[in-house]
Amino acid sequence: MDSKQSLTQLIEQWINPDIQAMNAYHVADASGMVKLDAMENPYQWEEPLKTEWLSTLKQAELNRYPEADASGLKNQLGQLMQVPEGMEILLGNGSDELILLLSLAVAAPGRTMLTLEPGFSMYRQIARTAQLDYSAVSLTENFELNVPATLEAIREQQPALIFIAQPNNPTGNLFDVDGLRQIIEAAPGLVIIDEAYTPFTDADFMPWLNEHRNLLIMRTLSKAGLAGLRLGLLVGSPAWLSQIDKIRLPYNIGVLTQATAEFALKHFDVLQHQTETIRTERARLYRELEKLEGLTLWSSEANFVLFRTEQGRARGLHQGLRDKGILIKCLDGAHPMLVDCLRVTVGTAEENNQFLKALSELL
Ligand SMILES: *Cc1c(COP(=O)(O)O)cnc(C)c1O
Repeated sequence: MDSKQSLTQLIEQWINPDIQAMNAYHVADASGMVKLDAMENPYQWEEPLKTEWLSTLKQAELNRYPEADASGLKNQLGQLMQVPEGMEILLGNGSDELILLLSLAVAAPGRTMLTLEPGFSMYRQIARTAQLDYSAVSLTENFELNVPATLEAIREQQPALIFIAQPNNPTGNLFDVDGLRQIIEAAPGLVIIDEAYTPFTDADFMPWLNEHRNLLIMRTLSKAGLAGLRLGLLVGSPAWLSQIDKIRLPYNIGVLTQATAEFALKHFDVLQHQTETIRTERARLYRELEKLEGLTLWSSEANFVLFRTEQGRARGLHQGLRDKGILIKCLDGAHPMLVDCLRVTVGTAEENNQFLKALSELL
């Protein structure tokens, strides 16, 4: 090491310039706030269920490496999510890890990840991490698919990977099924339908796996009520998954995660009951927001609602809500099409009321 170099110079010399240019994923401080910014399920488990869970954790062998294949857990997930016969599951530490594994598996100079924007911000972040070129096709003004523009981008860029969130985040809508089919058929490489919001919609593209050999389905337990657990799954043919599995670190799903997920899936009716309540609350929240002056709303198949404020007011309202102890997500500045937009996660009835009251006072 050159002893005359400062620490800054050392870092500039050795950290990859693309990584130096990146910003870390920002998580807002939410201590003590009504937290409606991150699509979390607001409900806890009741005491007896927590006690039962803790007693199963007692049997976990922390001195041993976790079961590498997690076959018991995969069987449970396969049944619950009606994974088609012949398809398999690959588990990730959240679906974020699966996006990274997919990106690393296809990455090579000149390879492209294509997505739709406004969309999920982690796709771009992870493309950079994996040194993939990143390209995004704009949705229409109402956040629908622009099929001709997407097909054109596919023709031009021949993307290795296409990510489509269905329903989409942060817009909450489902895309047209015929348009999706055209995109999958035109794609030269892999298409991943990211069904993170499955608990809040009747849409289900799992059966499409049998029809399209370049399709994979990605899901997560995060939005159903286990965001803290970090468990995501990629579903598709064993031929694809066995390739991606080569770069998965061998024990990526820990003993406690496996035991907790198995327990939670045995009691999935509890989570289902909670997500059904959230769906009902989503409809009420939407109706109440509709009554407020000056907001443009988009209907949602997810556990959040996107809305646009009058021109130039989003940041002020976001801060005003914050001052009243309520944290939602400000999307103004995140993408040109999200100008003046805010996104609120559906909370408990009580939390939603607090949000609505505070917002109507500020308006
Ligand atoms: C929240 C979200 C994810 C990330 O889920 P994790 O499993 O918690 O990593 C993936 N895709 C979309 C579209 C999301 O909104």
